[in-house]
Amino acid sequence: MTTFNTKPFLLPPRHLYIHWPFCSFKCHYCDFVAFEQHADHQAAYHEVLLAEIRTFAKQYAYQTPIDTIFIGGGTPSLYPLPWITELFSVLRSSFDLSNCSEITLESNPADIDEEKLDCWHSIGINRLSVGVQSLDDEVLLKLNRRQRASDVQRVMKIAPKYITNLSVDLILGLPDVSPAMWEYTIAQATNWPIKHLSMYFLTIHEKTPLYFNVARGTISLPDEEYIVTLYDQTIQQLEAAGIVQYEISNFACNGFQSLHNTAYWERKPYKGFGVGASSFDGSGRYINTNNLVSYMKSSQNVDCIVPHSHEIITPKQALLEHLMLSLRQNKGLDLQSMVYLLDPQELVALKNQLPILASAGLVTVTNDRVCLTHKGMALENEVVLRLFQ
Ligand code: SF4
Repeated sequence: MTTFNTKPFLLPPRHLYIHWPFCSFKCHYCDFVAFEQHADHQAAYHEVLLAEIRTFAKQYAYQTPIDTIFIGGGTPSLYPLPWITELFSVLRSSFDLSNCSEITLESNPADIDEEKLDCWHSIGINRLSVGVQSLDDEVLLKLNRRQRASDVQRVMKIAPKYITNLSVDLILGLPDVSPAMWEYTIAQATNWPIKHLSMYFLTIHEKTPLYFNVARGTISLPDEEYIVTLYDQTIQQLEAAGIVQYEISNFACNGFQSLHNTAYWERKPYKGFGVGASSFDGSGRYINTNNLVSYMKSSQNVDCIVPHSHEIITPKQALLEHLMLSLRQNKGLDLQSMVYLLDPQELVALKNQLPILASAGLVTVTNDRVCLTHKGMALENEVVLRLFQ
């Protein structure tokens, strides 16, 4: 359902997401709302983004306190410095950022230099997420990913002078990454001055160039069993270096777990700005149009109201989200929390599945708390389906 309705959240969001959708080139595995080049549209997009932020903020009679901000994309490290500086001045005049403890910017290592780092630091960005993905230049090239391994090594030397809370993203399961190269990548990561690491499983999204290459057989993917073994080994390697798993894809040094992502997993309200950005008000989800032209036309309204779809989350969906998001985290699912959410028959059915999943090595159950094993994490969808059938 597309609506033009906008209302203040019942609970004001304390977490903001801002989407900068432009990239130099589109990576072959990417299905994000991201546009190659589009230099001519960027100034206008920036203006609409500012208008959208001001429109939302002025619904409140006071400046809403914000705990975390995440600037994602696209490639926000390409956001021109005068504009991102203006973005932060609008954010500071629209919200109360005095206790905002985590402000993250996603970046491509090829873009990072000391001038940018200095500017980002000066406007309040205190966490940098660096998209490494692989250290194999040939693999990166084949995937149309523009940075090289040398960019990453350079960033690891200069970034900590300005921003000490560094995170890196890696993709597990990329085609043509040898076991030796993966081991080298993890060994390098454990020597970098990072506080956080995200390791995502490669997902093949329909209609991407990677999808067509796999379908044609010109690219072959590693098999699932190999990935499960590698995932398990990597967790152990990272933990030996003090980078400890706290969620399926996320690892951190003590005290550096991502506050922003934790808010998503705990189903706290958040507000997203920009094309394709989603928001959650505690009971429903709003998703901005992912059409760049429609998004830009929002500025023609007296107030900048962005076309968006609105999905009310049913109690059943809320339950499934709670179950999935709890299981994704190391702390697991508290079975007591399900007593209030399931009817007695459903609870019995769920509990009956647990010994079966445990004997398959997918979960552990201790004191009414269900946790995924490493194998269970790698096969999370299967576990959730069996618990929630
Ligand atoms: S840089 Fe990120 S958003 Fe841009 S195309 Fe690559 S994966 Fe997609």
